[in-house]
Amino acid sequence: MAGAKDSHHDVEEAPPPGKSFADRVYIPAVLRGLKLTVQHFFGTVADDHATVQYPEKGIYDTDEGSRAIGHPNPRMRGEHILVKDEQGREKCVACLLCMAACPALCIHIEPEPAPEEWSDRERRPAVFEIDMLRCIYCGYCEEACPCDAIRLTPKFYTPTTSRAERVYDKHRLLENNPAAQIPQRPAK
Ligand code: SF4
Ligand code: SF4
Repeated sequence: MAGAKDSHHDVEEAPPPGKSFADRVYIPAVLRGLKLTVQHFFGTVADDHATVQYPEKGIYDTDEGSRAIGHPNPRMRGEHILVKDEQGREKCVACLLCMAACPALCIHIEPEPAPEEWSDRERRPAVFEIDMLRCIYCGYCEEACPCDAIRLTPKFYTPTTSRAERVYDKHRLLENNPAAQIPQRPAK
């Protein structure tokens, strides 16, 4: 056992992180940091996307040439849409289940009777608002909805200059991110 211990001490061990001479004098780490800063500085001048001119330039621009970072993950939970049916009407039947499920209390719905010619439902939302500043993008509203009428989409945060602009009304939710309107899914 003693021999094994001695041979163990013969091997020169690397110092733990932060304990080597180079670590203790800091200079190599500072130089590495400066090198990275200079690389990014000239990279920005050469427009290689080291920085993003947001919001003038979209982070997830649909145009490949002007896209700054890449593609959003399709599973990302971003801004909501109210889904339209095949006739262009909101699918929402104003059941209020999403409002009840929302832990942030950021959904406000005021139901009204559906038009008589809408034979497939009794109610629709006269008012449907989501306060995007209070929303925590948990997806519970989408889970609670019995008829696929509300979805969270990968749409990235839209910059605004006032709180009021972050409260989306029914019309805005219906027109928000049209690409996420398809495919139509059947009611649960
Ligand atoms: S994602 Fe969550 S917090 Fe946001 S509206 Fe839906 S239930 Fe509420
Ligand atoms: S979006 Fe869905 S859960 Fe919310 S009120 Fe409309 S139908 Fe009900």
